[in-house]
Order: sequence, then C-alpha cells, then structure tokens
Amino acid sequence: MNNTKIISALVLCATLSFVSCSVKSGNETDKKVETLLSQMTLEEKVGQMAQITLDAVGNGDDVYTSKIPFAIDTARLRNALVNYHVGSILNTTNNYALPPAQWNQIIAEIQQVATHDTRLKIPVIYGIDAMHGATYAVGATMFPQEITLAASFNPDNAYNTAKVCAYETRACGIPWNFSPVLDLGADPRFSRQFEGFGEDPYLITEMGKEMIKGYQGVTDSVGNPVKVAACLKHFLGYSVPFSGKDRTPAYIPENILREYHLAPFKAAVKEGVESVMINSGIINGVSVHASHDIITKLLKEELGFQGIVVTDWMDIINLQKRDKIAQTNKEAVKLAINAGIDMSMVPYDYENFCKDLISLVNEGEVKESRIDDAVRRILKVKMKLGLWEKPVTKLADYPKFGSKEHAQLSYNAAAEAITLLKNTNDILPLQKNIKVLVTGPNANEMRCLNGGWTYSWQGDKVDRFAGQYNTILEAVQNKIGVGNVQYFPGVSYKNNGKYFEQAEDKFQEAIAAARNVDVVVLCEGENTYTEKPGDLNDLILNELQIKLANELAKTGKPVILVLNEGRPRCISDIEPGMKAVIQTYLPGNYGGDALADILWGDVNPSGKLPYTYPAFPNSIVNYYHKLSEEQKPSEGAYKYESDYNPQYEFGFGLSYTTFEYSNMKVSSNTFGKNEKIKVSVNVKNTGSREGKETVLLFSSDLYATITPDVKRLRRFKKINLAPGEVKTVSFEISDKDLAFVDTNNQFITEPGEFELSLGGLKSKITYKY
Ligand code: BGC
Repeated sequence: MNNTKIISALVLCATLSFVSCSVKSGNETDKKVETLLSQMTLEEKVGQMAQITLDAVGNGDDVYTSKIPFAIDTARLRNALVNYHVGSILNTTNNYALPPAQWNQIIAEIQQVATHDTRLKIPVIYGIDAMHGATYAVGATMFPQEITLAASFNPDNAYNTAKVCAYETRACGIPWNFSPVLDLGADPRFSRQFEGFGEDPYLITEMGKEMIKGYQGVTDSVGNPVKVAACLKHFLGYSVPFSGKDRTPAYIPENILREYHLAPFKAAVKEGVESVMINSGIINGVSVHASHDIITKLLKEELGFQGIVVTDWMDIINLQKRDKIAQTNKEAVKLAINAGIDMSMVPYDYENFCKDLISLVNEGEVKESRIDDAVRRILKVKMKLGLWEKPVTKLADYPKFGSKEHAQLSYNAAAEAITLLKNTNDILPLQKNIKVLVTGPNANEMRCLNGGWTYSWQGDKVDRFAGQYNTILEAVQNKIGVGNVQYFPGVSYKNNGKYFEQAEDKFQEAIAAARNVDVVVLCEGENTYTEKPGDLNDLILNELQIKLANELAKTGKPVILVLNEGRPRCISDIEPGMKAVIQTYLPGNYGGDALADILWGDVNPSGKLPYTYPAFPNSIVNYYHKLSEEQKPSEGAYKYESDYNPQYEFGFGLSYTTFEYSNMKVSSNTFGKNEKIKVSVNVKNTGSREGKETVLLFSSDLYATITPDVKRLRRFKKINLAPGEVKTVSFEISDKDLAFVDTNNQFITEPGEFELSLGGLKSKITYKY
C-alpha cells in the first residue's frame, strides 16, 4: 500500500465512524446496520433496493448499449448513485468479457462516487453471473458447468470450482455472485438443465452445500476478500415448466415442491448463503415474484433466511408487462415488495421503480417497516463483505488468477465427470498408434465445450477468448500426433446472422475419410445457449447429426460417439450403430484434454449420469418415478414400468476396470424414531487397473399412503481402488432420510418395510414406532 492509499483508507474509516475497520461480530454488525438505517431518508432506503445494469451508466447513445471501449458516463452514474441512491449494479457491458484490470477500474470509479459523493457514503454491491468460473473476465479459469460437476459425484469439485471462481471474481473487484443454481433438473427439455446439478434432490443438496462453502468460506468469513456472497437460484420450482420452455407456467403441487425442489435450498440457507434470487416463472397460476407464501412465509419465515432476496432480470416489470397481474408498474412494485422482495434487478428504468416505491410508502400501501427489513438485509450483506473497509479489490493482489494451479482443478473436475456410457468389446481405451478421423460439429469448438455463460450470456463469443485452450480435435492431435488425425466436421454450426443453424460441412469428405482410418471419433451434441434462446421443440438430436452418425456407422469403421451437450438429446436412432458412447456434458476449457486422456486410457473414466438419459422425447421420466402399468401383454403378467425405458439410467457410468459388491450389512433390521442404521458394503476392484467407483445408496419405501417412488438416492461416496483392492464403504441413515411429503405437506416416515440397495445388493429394514 502506498502512502496516499493508507491515508485515504484511514480517512474513510474515520469518516464512517459507524463501521469499524476490523472484523466484526454478528451483533456489532447488527448495531452498525441499525445506526446507519436510522440516518437514512426514505429515498436513500429505496435507492438501496434498486439494482441496475452496467450499461445503464455506460457511455452510449442509449442505456441499452454502451460504446466500445466501455467508459462510464459520469453524469449517468451520478444520477443513479447520488440522485437516486441506487445501491447495486450488475452484469457486464455489451454482453462480453472484460480484462480484470478493466473491471478494477470500473468498480473503482463506481465506488469512488458511492463512497465519496453520496451523503452516507454507502458502497455499491456489484453482482455478476460467474457460473462456472468468472464468466465475464478475460483469462479467468473456466470450470465444467454444474451438470458436469454433478456427474463427478465428488463434492470437492463443486467446492474447488466455487473457491477459484470466488477468488477470480474478487480479483476483478466483484464481491457478489449469482450462483449456484440449485434448481431441480428434472426435465431434460429445459434450456437451463446444464446450470444445475441434475435431477436428484440429494445430489443437488450435497453439491450445493460445497459450492456455498467454496464461495463464502465457512460461517462469517465471507468478508475475506477472496470470498464472494453467493446467490441461490431460482427460488423455487423454476426448472420444470409444463411446456419445457423457459419462463412458461409450471404446475407443481405443494407436496412435490417441498419434497423435491426445496431440500437443496433449505440446506444452502442453513449453510448461511447471503442471497437468493427468485424464480421468474409462474407456478399454479401465481407469479413467484408476487408470492408472499413463497418469498416471505416459506423462505424468510420457515427457512429463516436472513440475507437479500433479489428479483431476476426485470421481473417486477414483468408482473405488469408479461403476467398481467398489475395494471401499472406501481402496482407491480407494490405486489413484489409486499411479497418480500428486498432488491429489484430493475435493471434500466430505476427512476420509476424508486419513485413508485416512495409513493407507495407515503400512501401507506407499503409499510416502512417492510422497507427497513429489506434495507437492513442489504446493508448487512454489504457490511459482512467488508465493503466499507475494502470497496475495491485489485488484480495485483490475486497472483493465482488464471493460474496453472486453478487450471489443474478445472481439468481434474472434467476428468472425474466425463461418463462412459457404452464400450462394446472394450474398444476403449484406444491404442496410440492408430489413425483417427475426428468429426462432428462439436469436434473443434471451444464454445461447445463450455456452454452458455462463458465470456458472454449465450457463450457465443467464446472463440474470441479461448484460443489458447484445446478443442477435442486439438487434444486428440496432441495425444497421438497431428499426422495420425484427419478432420472433417461433416456438420457445422453456422451463424446465419442471428442464430446458429446446423448445416452439412464437408459431409462426403468425412464419410470418405472414415474409410481410411482405424477409428472414428464423432463429436455431436449441442451448440451453446441458455434461457429463452435455448428453448427446444424437439429433444431428438439434430437430424443432420443423426444422418452423419448413421452414414459413418455404415462404413463399418468403429465409431466412438462423443456427446457434448447441455442436456441429454435423444440418440436412440443412432446408438445401436455406435461402438462406444461417452458423455462429456459441458466440461469447460480443459474438457478436450480430459476427454483425450480418457479415450487413450491415461485416465480411467469415473463419471456417472446425474440425470436419466431419455431414449424418446415422449418418455421423459426421472429415476424416482412411480410404477405404472404396461399394456396388457398377450401372455404373462402385467409389468409396471411402462413409461420408464431410458437410454441410460441415472447413476450409470462405466469404467475401464470392474467392481464387485459383496457383504452388504445393516446394523439392525428394525429401527425406531431418531434411530440410526448403519449400512455397509465391500467394494472390490476386480479388474487390472486402478479406478474410482461411486457407491450409491438407494432406498425404496415398499408401501406408503402416497404411491412411493421406485427408489431414491440417500447417500453416495466416491472411492479409489487399486487392482484387487477391497474397501468397506459405510453410511448412516435415520428415519428422517426415508421420509416423504404427505398431502398435508408435511415430511413423514411411515412405519413399514424399506429396501436399501447398494450396487445391486439389497437388504430390508423395518421402521417401527
Ligand atoms: C437469469 C439469472 C441471472 C440474471 C442476471 C436472468 O435472466 O435468469 O439467472 O442471474 O439474468 O444476469
């Protein structure tokens, strides 16, 4: 620190006598919040509740786009911060990544105005979507997306991703991250399935808790300037719209909402998460942003959430414009704030938000106590983040930004997640001295490895920023030598000016080349997307990609299908012709390298599917389904799994070695209320190479007053085994773990028999009370 900086820091501390410069205890912070709150005018309080996007204060012809290179328009910034007391800014400019040094400068300019030119000198809280690494920072470490992390079944990967992301986000000067997504990935049609941890509530819960720890540190250490405040998204029930399309109505009974959707959020609130973003959608006809039941009663009162509740993008405005439940903006503001919203992501027209809310309070339509509650929460998070002491953090203090150490963690996560789904006659791993054709639209695209929220919202600008990383093609070339690899895309994603379409591209050349190689590595899946632009009309893989796969299979050469996709696109038309299938999901900037290491056996695959891979678009059923009747067969008995016929099951994934489960034991065959049962199993590596296995403990409630799910995941553990090695894996569960939500919307465990299963072994236990 140079002298000028020391002097200004001292001056700042002295001026803000209500905020000490040392680490504060909870009570001290509360007192300081109250002191500050008591000094605030209504206008200043309401301003704290407004969040605007960066372009709204950028230098541009309008507030929607800024000129390039980006510069702050001082008059616009002062109008927002000084005249309207706006307390928060979000997002990048013009929807692409900036160098961290430029971020430092932008944040410094903003905080300069906030902490010098406003009456109470309250720092701005800047928020960003850093979803799998610092999305909008050039040179940041991009990790696999959450769906990929889930497939690793190793919560350490979620922790590491969040820890590095927090560090690199803070290096930019940004202390608040709109992540993690804890939505239930139960519908593969949904464009944001990749942003979450898959379909299982328990898996989401366990990964989510680690992510919160990675972002925020352990309780009360969020003020450490390598941590960020996390934000749970999107509370609640966002991911299962009836149509499968983003921001269209959902119909979710309360018992289902509580049993499947709520658990991950509840656990993350318990972990001390500092903020929650609300679901943009409509559930059972009610806009969630106007739901007092969901925001205040459930989240704030029942779960005891103490942090900031922020809207999603423009969602107060949407109550009027889209949902038509308010005739005016003012009415929309009233509904949302009274429902329990603390901060409105306005994000452009903050003047109207502020004016409307001030009038509503003056007219008695919104109580000032509600405003105080909201502002208290906002100020508290700002104080916990240490924004008075350190309103600006600088890249120079973050030497590990974009480092090899961080890259290694990203690679490790990808290598542990990539999932081998089919391996006919052990065609994988491949030999090194072979000739290979690499083909398919995903073969040479960094964009596809990363997915949406990578250097831009839709991931469409990845090529500008990710040149130094290896595509699948480049990683294969590095592995076996350029001379052994041919490349023809066959099909490509073409930019038609507005959208990316798929078109044949050297299709015949690809087929001809296949005839002259030993193995074809066919890389198919999806281009990048998120939110509305990712809406789908058909879950089946694109028809040109189907055609390419079938034509390649016809050559008689073994085809390895590499899937690279945000959601499972149906491949039942081509799967039989593929000798091997391997799912990479969205593995990030080091995914190509990890894949090549797996294809050639330098890494043994150990990922497992975090969702059910459907075979057909009309058979979208989660693994935790109810039994249902098949058409009466001509002979024999009814079967009861008519709608469950997935391509691959949840939790499925092969290895280059084999594992044998034996000696399953339960500590007792009966158990009572609050009693724990210990269940254990021996797992042996029966193959000839080292490998990792995820042991999954499922339970089945055999009879219940509400039709029970066929099974539910209750515990998991990933272990490493040398050839021949045996390990005993044990878990503890209690009656609470076996509960379901009844029609009174209460969790209950009913007395009766349950079946526990581990790797195909089963034991029955009886619950009595
Ligand atoms: C998305 C959120 C995101 C927000 C801010 C919205 O459109 O739904 O997930 O955090 O924009 O960029």
